Amino acid sequence: MIRTIIVFCLFFPFFICHSQTNDSVVIRKLFNEALSDHTSYKNLEFLCTRIGGRICGSPQAEKAVQWTKEVLDGMDLDTVFLQECKVRYWVRGETEEVIVNPGKKSSIRLNACAVGGTVGTGEKGITANVIEVYDFEELKKLGKDEIEGKIVFFNHPANPAVYYTFEAYGGVAKYRVYGATEAAKYGAIAVVVRSATLAHDDYPHTGILHYADTIKQIPAMAVSTNDADKLSKQLKQDSGLNLFLRLTSTEQPETMSHNIIGEIRGTEFPEEVIVFGGHLDAWDNGQGAHDDGAGIVQTIEVLRLFKTLGIKPKRTIRFVAFMDEEMDQRGAKAYAAYAKQMLDNGYLILDKNNASSIIQHPVSAGFESHLAAIEADRGGSTPFGFSIDGTDEQLQKIKSWKDLFYPYGIYSLEKGGSGVDVGKLKPLGTALIALVTDSQRYFDYHHSPNDTFDKVNQRELQLGSFSIAALVFLIDKYGL
Ligand SMILES: [Zn+2]
Repeated sequence: MIRTIIVFCLFFPFFICHSQTNDSVVIRKLFNEALSDHTSYKNLEFLCTRIGGRICGSPQAEKAVQWTKEVLDGMDLDTVFLQECKVRYWVRGETEEVIVNPGKKSSIRLNACAVGGTVGTGEKGITANVIEVYDFEELKKLGKDEIEGKIVFFNHPANPAVYYTFEAYGGVAKYRVYGATEAAKYGAIAVVVRSATLAHDDYPHTGILHYADTIKQIPAMAVSTNDADKLSKQLKQDSGLNLFLRLTSTEQPETMSHNIIGEIRGTEFPEEVIVFGGHLDAWDNGQGAHDDGAGIVQTIEVLRLFKTLGIKPKRTIRFVAFMDEEMDQRGAKAYAAYAKQMLDNGYLILDKNNASSIIQHPVSAGFESHLAAIEADRGGSTPFGFSIDGTDEQLQKIKSWKDLFYPYGIYSLEKGGSGVDVGKLKPLGTALIALVTDSQRYFDYHHSPNDTFDKVNQRELQLGSFSIAALVFLIDKYGL
């Protein structure tokens, strides 16, 4: 590092060098504090073990909102406020059964869960012939003749031969998201999908599905990867197998929920905002530790680091806990509507007739523009970089800070996607950024009962908080 600075100094004017040295001192302080303090880990423990799964609309989600507000209220921030967003409230129900060969001696119960947002089967459940398909092409080829009246079993394993596991997930999540609608087109009465994970274990993984307005809504369940293999093997021996499905999920009336926002106002350019956050909601079948309790506590920690070290940002730095990422991103939509309003008109919307657009901001607001938005929603494992969705200029600027990040394992500053929540700010021209973490184990936990507090390592979590804080510090100091 010292050699780098010396070489750098030979070619650049003194003041630039001086400033990079100063930056490295501040960044070192951020690192020391982030890695020595346990607040974020304790926050995660509370969120996971005392509140637990917190799907939007649920009492647990409401508890999480209140808890986050209390945490922020205790931090001596300039502004803390709730922002309303109306959300769905889907309830899993008591029963989740998938049984092979029901009523027979050879019957086996599979590890299964309802896919998020699915309709139920009714109390009695349904029994039908099951047919395995690999993908949507095969479904189409089989057509109505083979599919009608049956339960379709989508058994498409995630591809293990990719390095970044989000790619593997992306290749199979579509069967969970669109499988029910695609199968219903050919007259299927329900679907069972292989869990979207690379792990071979007994945990079923949930996640949202999307129905189409014009297609019949049929129930969807996910089975663990081990049980998907088991079912497939049995179907090879007996293609006439029956499955019994029962799930009692219901859709409750929509309810009012909130994003939670906390900020330190900028001393020179308070109208320029740097946002960072994660999503507070989490699937109800686990504790939402990696997804996305980690992102929430890491980004709250950014504020704590600035406060503790007495760093006064020039620009406004703002934490947002987004509600409802998992189902319909109503929180992200409400926040983006607010950001657009503040950019275009700089005043508050208080439209009581349109609940989703109600925005409450306790300070008198001027115009605001969003310079950058950083999302932490790729799990709490070791970070190694940032993925940047912005202009080439913005990318080059962030890359120019690489020597400051490199000693702390942040070596990848590349163009790429950001996140579902901050993505809604794209039309405003905001630079969108995601913290990139080691993804090898992420989908072992994601959306499953296995996503628990004990799966998050404290140091790895702290490294994430530090990395975001360092980036916020540099964007604040130099703009973007
Ligand atoms: Zn997430």
